[in-house]
Amino acid sequence: EKLGIALVGLGYYSTDLLAPALQLTEKCYLAGIVTGTPEKAQTWKAKYKIPEKNIYNYQNFDKIADNPDIDIVYVVLPPSMHREFVVRAAKAGKHVFCEKPMAPSVADCEAMISACKTNKVKLAIGYRCQHDPNIQAYMKVAKEKKFGKVMMVNSAAGYLDNRTTHWKQNKKLGGGVMGDMGVYALQGARLATGEEPVSVTALASTTRPQIYNQVEETMMFMLDFPSGARAACQTSFGINMNHLQINYEKGWLKMEPHSGYSGNKGSMSDGTIINYPIQNQQAKQMDEDCLAIISGSELIAPGEEGLRDIRVVEAIYKSVETGKNVKI
Ligand code: NAD
Repeated sequence: EKLGIALVGLGYYSTDLLAPALQLTEKCYLAGIVTGTPEKAQTWKAKYKIPEKNIYNYQNFDKIADNPDIDIVYVVLPPSMHREFVVRAAKAGKHVFCEKPMAPSVADCEAMISACKTNKVKLAIGYRCQHDPNIQAYMKVAKEKKFGKVMMVNSAAGYLDNRTTHWKQNKKLGGGVMGDMGVYALQGARLATGEEPVSVTALASTTRPQIYNQVEETMMFMLDFPSGARAACQTSFGINMNHLQINYEKGWLKMEPHSGYSGNKGSMSDGTIINYPIQNQQAKQMDEDCLAIISGSELIAPGEEGLRDIRVVEAIYKSVETGKNVKI
């Protein structure tokens, strides 16, 4: 028996990635939708054979509590709306998947985790890369200390975004590159070291103030880890980049691309190649998260993992504001 998933927010990621992936999943299927646009409801209903009773809007969404077809609500809205919909889903007694960045603030993340605990539902963050064996390969190198201690990490994630009025350029909706592509650069550093950073120094900038005037176009941040490892990270809406380089005491590892939907690959100084085939990252993510829910085992990326990133993101903004190194 497959778990029924309802997607909330039918924008780019739901339309182009998650709905197609849900045609490949074995543990779950696209059972319902929640949308503010009636035309989209009609298109999706026809395309994916979604029964009328499993279609909700933002107002009647809470009635999903009475719908046994829906086991999981997957929140795929702009970041500023994640908290509201995760909390409402939890109160409706549904397990929740929530897209990254988890929310704009640590307080939001804590409220989301707490709502899911109180209502005894699971909360998974859409960190698809942690389900990718290519990313798991360098996490394993850190864990097993194959090349000794991590010394230096360089991590970058960005793409050229030429839109002008999207939520990614809007502060109130949770925009800014740091929460968006920045979490991939940050995850690269955290997963490469297997540690949590203790302090950060950051600098925000923009080359297109006519578009990026509420939020940063580019963020550079330097992280210090307890072992003494350091990471130099960059993220930008002004340039295409996607790589990770790790220098250990006795070797190195490079990934490029590092956080793509497919084709993530890498190599190590001893000649080891990282290039695992993966059919569909999002399908694997949702299947593994569903399996964890069904079997009661640990999620790969629970709410607490989303919170770890947002704690650093908050410190990064504080460093930009103060011009100082900030303890985390
Ligand atoms: P999008 O702008 O394409 O879609 C957002 C959806 O939210 C739209 O359907 C829009 O109608 C709806 N919405 C409701 N209220 C809105 C409001 N006030 N303003 C703007 N939109 C509103 O965005 P997206 O790229 O689909 O991103 C959605 C979420 O998915 C974000 O959290 C994003 O970071 C995440 N995402 C994750 C990945 C990944 O690889 N894991 C990739 C892309 C996006």
